[in-house]
Amino acid sequence: MIYIKTPEEIEKLRKSNILVGKTLAEVGKHVKPGVTTLELDKIAEDFIRSNGAEPGFLGYDGFPNTLCVSVNDKVVHGIPSDYALQDGDVVSVDCGTLMDGFYGDSAYTFCCGNVDPKVKKLLQTTKEALYLGIAEARAGHRLGDVGYAIQQHCQAAGFSVVREMVGHGIGRDMHEAPEVPNYGKRGQGLLLREGMTIAIEPMINMGNRGIVLERDGWTIRTIDRKPSAHFEHTIAIGKGEADILSTFEYIVES
Ligand code: MG
Ligand code: MG
Repeated sequence: MIYIKTPEEIEKLRKSNILVGKTLAEVGKHVKPGVTTLELDKIAEDFIRSNGAEPGFLGYDGFPNTLCVSVNDKVVHGIPSDYALQDGDVVSVDCGTLMDGFYGDSAYTFCCGNVDPKVKKLLQTTKEALYLGIAEARAGHRLGDVGYAIQQHCQAAGFSVVREMVGHGIGRDMHEAPEVPNYGKRGQGLLLREGMTIAIEPMINMGNRGIVLERDGWTIRTIDRKPSAHFEHTIAIGKGEADILSTFEYIVES
């Protein structure tokens, strides 16, 4: 079932997603060598609660924390821990909120200190691919158009697209239909309609696209242990350009 949102519902989604954007920025300020991922998690939880919302991931399907923090070869769903960030790490921070009945969901991959230029290129390409996918996400286009744009951009740069993990519809539930793959064929897949709200979230690997689930039952990492990048926006489909409900505008890159 795909839920088409009213303009009022989209505004509620926007509020929840703007708080995610502010939380990501708050966390990003603290991405420095020596800071543990659990410390980042605490910062996010306190910030979300002090802004009148609930962490969206905490307890979701039993997830134990507010953030998913996935460092280097971890792709997504990393569990915050006492791991202290090191110079040169890349840190995917995925954050969710629940505010006034609607979920926010957005992710950003931060650099910790001095990152290898090749890895920076992976991050830059993944972020570009997210916006190229969003540019295709409009009423009358199909999900294959979105996935194609993301896949082409990343593969042209020599990177690979994770297939098993995908974006999703979002609203009163964190994960609604449809699934939103980061690969596809032009003109194929579900027809996009005005009022659909989806999270687009390319997960792009520097090496092979293969992933495995770690023993903690949550963390996804690359098989070849090469780095992975992840950027995510929640958007609303309109007749023209999509309305991006989450935001990176508060993030200051160090
Ligand atoms: Mg997310
Ligand atoms: Mg998501």
